[in-house]
Amino acid sequence: FNTERFGQHILKNPMVAQGIVDKANLRPTDKVLEVGPGTGNLTVRILEKAKHVTAIEMDPRMAAELTKRVQGKPEQRKLEIMIGDFVKADLPYFDVCISNTPYQISSPLVFRLLSHRPLFRVAILMFQREFALRLVARPGTELWSRLSANVQLYAKVDHIMKVGKNNFRPAPQVESSVVRIVPLDPPPPVRFEEFDGLNRIIFGRRNKTVHATFQAKGVFEMLDRNYKTWCAEKNKIIMDDVNMKTMVQTILDETGYSDNRAAKMDVDDLLKLLSAFHDVGIHFA
Ligand code: SAM
Repeated sequence: FNTERFGQHILKNPMVAQGIVDKANLRPTDKVLEVGPGTGNLTVRILEKAKHVTAIEMDPRMAAELTKRVQGKPEQRKLEIMIGDFVKADLPYFDVCISNTPYQISSPLVFRLLSHRPLFRVAILMFQREFALRLVARPGTELWSRLSANVQLYAKVDHIMKVGKNNFRPAPQVESSVVRIVPLDPPPPVRFEEFDGLNRIIFGRRNKTVHATFQAKGVFEMLDRNYKTWCAEKNKIIMDDVNMKTMVQTILDETGYSDNRAAKMDVDDLLKLLSAFHDVGIHFA
């Protein structure tokens, strides 16, 4: 195991560790999921407040250290350590997720949590500052991106704490931030792959007009293939003269989004556009 590869930067400042756990407002009935507990600086504080903790740790040596830390204490019964990769692990039920994980798995972490059912109540997560700022970015600002839109489709995200690199040993290269993620319940009835598929196209060049982004190589071909699959599934007869380019432009004109730019479109705009495409059988995944 290599410190850099597994992002093993241990949080050394007890005030920050306590601050993160406090932000979760844990209840005595809560089951908590912790990803990458390391030596357990967050874990022991979570155990004081929660009913149960499942900690998923990839490095067996870290897991052994955490086991030793709770051994013989009353908290031991409340802690289950799973050794393995979070990305591949079967997740248990949890009310709250608290995690200071390596930044390599930031994206998979967020999207795996949001697609897990039943939905959790809140997640308090530490990320590289830049990633955190993109999660919370609002339309029309510099960091508003495909990531911002995809996450904000499913959750309310807030930046709650800046954490400087000197709070870690060894100190990482980058600054960190803690965010709070509260899933929207019920979630919007949209397939993630569809929403992300549209965003891939229009955020590919977020400052170009929506019309222009659809002209990128391969886009009409992809939509055409998806359209034919959809027609076949619905037993719809495909007209010989379907022209995907014309179909797309008609939707862009009718919805009025042709000359908009993803940089300034909010989640509602994106959903409206997607649903207009779906109404005529145009799919992005
Ligand atoms: N949470 C501890 C803290 O705040 O002091 C440790 C933080 S350290 C940045 C990240 C931890 O995640 C390390 O213990 C590392 O071994 C573990 N880890 C790395 N990749 C992982 C993965 N894919 N699944 C689970 N744990 C992982």
